[in-house]
Amino acid sequence: MNPLARLLARRIAATGPICLADYMADCLLHPEYGYYTSREPFGRQGDFITAPEISQMFGELVGLALAQSWLEQGSPAPFALVELGPGRGTLMADILRATRMVPGFHRALRLHLVEAAPRMRALQADALRGHEPTWHDSPATLPEMPLLLVANEFFDALPIRQFRRHERGWRELQVTLDADGALAFALSEPAPLALLDHRLKDTRPGDIVEHRPAAGPLIEALAGSIARHGGVALLFDYGGWRSLGDTLQALHRQAPDHPLAHPGQADLTAHVDFEALSQAAAPLLTVTPMITQGTFLHRLGIGARARKLAESLRGEALESHLAAFHRLTDPSEMGTLFKTIALHPKGAPPPPGHGG
Ligand code: SAH
Repeated sequence: MNPLARLLARRIAATGPICLADYMADCLLHPEYGYYTSREPFGRQGDFITAPEISQMFGELVGLALAQSWLEQGSPAPFALVELGPGRGTLMADILRATRMVPGFHRALRLHLVEAAPRMRALQADALRGHEPTWHDSPATLPEMPLLLVANEFFDALPIRQFRRHERGWRELQVTLDADGALAFALSEPAPLALLDHRLKDTRPGDIVEHRPAAGPLIEALAGSIARHGGVALLFDYGGWRSLGDTLQALHRQAPDHPLAHPGQADLTAHVDFEALSQAAAPLLTVTPMITQGTFLHRLGIGARARKLAESLRGEALESHLAAFHRLTDPSEMGTLFKTIALHPKGAPPPPGHGG
């Protein structure tokens, strides 16, 4: 057993089974043994590679979409340029580079990063040297001003609870101990759950539904701010519309792993339910229809951008550039599993890529 597994086992032995969200929270962000707090998961050597790490084109196009929204909303100054969960800071560095030529944009922007892991903050400080970011533990402390916000693969890292439909309600997935004292999954006794009453109509006994407790309140807070001051939020993640089925996934050293096998040493994620995010924002903002990452990037002209970059490349560099383009946009790669929505003030135009 690794140190975090031992800690969790002691806690469960003392106080009983814990829900999946509590388990995930410790695995990802335990101050000493958490995945994001104790290791560097990204990049070509890490457990997974994200869109901005695949190619600079992702961040460049996102940056230009944000800048266009800013211009269309009357170039408010100052405004907060915000990223949730910036990882190594690559996406924000590309956004900042791509927007350098937009008149007034950099003078008006205040850079704010929401990042829980001190280790990640240090990487971001390096990547964004010269831009003086302000870090936040959560969006609750973001400044009261227009927000231009991006989040890529942030929501999939927020802990989920998982429920299995039963005739008389729901059984929740819990982490408990088996007869040998090792971590094991178990299901709670069936009980009704007001939270999932609306899913009784479209599920049958045995079906699995996931719920991300932190996502709704977080979106509500951001939506309130954008409704008051203006701005836009561009959200990218893997997932779909309306949770159904077990999507909990563990990655350890680039290979699928059992979620209980290496607590704190494996990345744990689950699909993002874009319906839940949209519903949380809808009372206050306009939410654009969910589209695939591939569609979004194509609408913003990634094909032309890729051709332009290709002109100056030869040999291996050209091959890896073309492979990156394929990986970002092709339906068999990230192109369709990854989705995006935008949140913007009612009455304001949708950002480019999300417009009709
Ligand atoms: N957006 C980056 C990295 C995504 S990984 C990219 O596209 O490459 C998730 C990021 O969110 C990491 O930086 C992680 O430390 C951070 N994170 C995870 N859970 C968080 C939480 N609850 N609050 C704030 N940041 C969190």
